[in-house]
Amino acid sequence: MSKPKIYITRKLPEKYLKPYEYDFEFKMWQEANIPVPRETLLQAVSEADGILSMLSEKIDEQLIEQANRLKIVSNLAVGYDNVDLLAMQKNNIVVTNTPDVLTETTADLTFALLLATARRLIEASEFIKKDKWEHWSPFLLAGADVNHQTIGIVGMGRIGQAVARRAKGFNMNILYHNRSRDQQAEKEVGATYTSFNELIGTADFIVSLVPLTQETKHLFDEKVFSKMKSSAIFINVSRGQVVDETALYEALKNNVIQAAGLDVFQHEPIRSDHPLMQLSNVVCLPHIGSASVQTREKMIELCLQNLHSYFYGSGPLTEVRF
Ligand code: NAP
Repeated sequence: MSKPKIYITRKLPEKYLKPYEYDFEFKMWQEANIPVPRETLLQAVSEADGILSMLSEKIDEQLIEQANRLKIVSNLAVGYDNVDLLAMQKNNIVVTNTPDVLTETTADLTFALLLATARRLIEASEFIKKDKWEHWSPFLLAGADVNHQTIGIVGMGRIGQAVARRAKGFNMNILYHNRSRDQQAEKEVGATYTSFNELIGTADFIVSLVPLTQETKHLFDEKVFSKMKSSAIFINVSRGQVVDETALYEALKNNVIQAAGLDVFQHEPIRSDHPLMQLSNVVCLPHIGSASVQTREKMIELCLQNLHSYFYGSGPLTEVRF
């Protein structure tokens, strides 16, 4: 049997591919920081048995039309909203993602963002760097407490639970909302299940960790922000489209809520002239939830293992079930 051909949509260090070169013929887009142009991708997939894709690539019907040999898409992310699952199912193409290996790292970032937003860390750092620090004063850059406050986690899955474990260390009261109750998680982290409306109306920190689906698109809209406390701090580390950004901007500008910490945006990369970027009560990050060197290595390794196990083993390790 000839070696399966794998197209990798971003330049990855060769050292990760080396152990697999005997079994696969790899082709790779040669830019580490620039996504593969659509036309190049469409051409490349026509010869590919597998793709190792980033979340910047749309894996859809149009792509499949060009991809006669494609059997597996190994997506370098736990979220797979860039992949049209129905189209994959119709064409018997397996999809895999990278759950678990990024959970703790993404929870670290979520909690760091929550702390940075509550305690105004970025503003405070800029304050010194711009030589604005003249005197100490009682309310200079005073923020909001995190300890002993109520956190409401929307999407108490793997990452949500890891965030809850961190919240427990801060003596926070933990509320959560999922479509279904998770009594195991309740026991482990001492969280209380509430309706979505109760959570958004009660929590001091509302943290979005739901996947992007038809159901969660613009879940956080004008009506939802209007039900939050005026002191509420909103944190989004899930996907940008879960939020109506215009509504969020209005809520922040008009003091409907206090602040927001955002790792993800409706259109990425967001630009500095975006209205949200003009607000001092927004802390923003360029989608770096799982971006530690160790975790990125594990994600790449899991993508390659999924491909290997699909072609040579007993099936992929972390298949997305439709
Ligand atoms: P997960 O284990 O599948 O957890 C998702 C949770 O969301 C589940 O508990 C699920 O519970 C809940 N959920 C799904 N649909 C819902 C809805 N309509 N309403 C309320 N709850 C809903 O996934 P995970 O590994 O924790 O990852 C979560 C998401 O984080 C990913 O999908 C990804 O988009 C995002 N993420 C972002 C970064 C980053 O860099 N910013 C990194 C990693 C992950 P039910 O099924 O019971 O509703």
